[in-house]
This record gives sequence, structure tokens and C-alpha cells, in this order.
Amino acid sequence: MIKTGIGFDAHRLVAGRPLILGGVRLDHPFGLQGHSDADVLCHAIADALLGAMADGDIGVHFPDSDPQWKNANSLDLLARVRERLTARRAKVVNVDAVVLAEQPKIAPHRTAMCANLSRALKIAPDCVSVKATTMESLGTVGRKEGMAVMAVATVEQGE
Ligand code: MG
Repeated sequence: MIKTGIGFDAHRLVAGRPLILGGVRLDHPFGLQGHSDADVLCHAIADALLGAMADGDIGVHFPDSDPQWKNANSLDLLARVRERLTARRAKVVNVDAVVLAEQPKIAPHRTAMCANLSRALKIAPDCVSVKATTMESLGTVGRKEGMAVMAVATVEQGE
């Protein structure tokens, strides 16, 4: 059976934090605030995968009230989500994501991000798509107060 899920996440940009997207550390004066490494791209994809399986969300499985996930590497969280799929005889078919951010430029890091994501999900790099857009200075993302990511994922579940 083929199943599809949607994921969305947003994090605030603050000084004194590294900016990590898709497991890639970007050179930027601000980073994303969060309990884990705040990798908003991994979080949106994880929620899309969990959504496809009707298996809650990352807040349920990796609560920010649990010190175990403090500064957690979100690629590891993504691999744990993939393991949840495997346990139910499901595998990732493909994922597609859009990063909403004014700065920095995402395109130069896209290949590295897709490579990290494909490794965590155990799928081919050409089954992982990361796109990016600015908000044309509109709203909170446009004011550079944060970043957001939308993602969809397709999974195939065996009998
Ligand atoms: Mg998050």
C-alpha cells in the first residue's frame, strides 16, 4: 500500500546557535533555537513520514521535555523514524521538502543535505528533494525571525 504524509515545522533564528539544516552546518550569524539541534528540515520530513504512517508526530516520540533529546542530532531522529517504519514493514519511497528562509542561500548546500537525508532514510539521493524559497520579505520568515519547512513523504507498506 502506498501512503503519503505531510510535515511542517518552524523554528526561531537566534544568535549563539549553530545553523544546522539537513545535517549540514551552514556558516551564518544566527542559528535555530530548539531543544534538539533544531534541524527544521529533518523535523518536517520526520513528521511527513510519521504522518504517512498515521503514527503521531515527533513531539510524541521525541518530546522536548525528555533530556534524552537535548541537543539531539536530528538525522538520528530521522533514522529512528525510519526504524519505526521498518518495524511496520514500510519503507520510504521519496521525500520532497521546501525550506522557507530569507538567508542564507540553501542551494549551495542542497547536494550535501540530500546525501545526509538519503543516508538516514536508506534511500537513493535522487529520491530526496530539497528546495528553497524566500518569503520576499513577507511575514516572520521574511523578517528573518525564523525558518520554516514544508515536506511531503511517500512510503510503501508491505502486507
Ligand atoms: Mg522542530
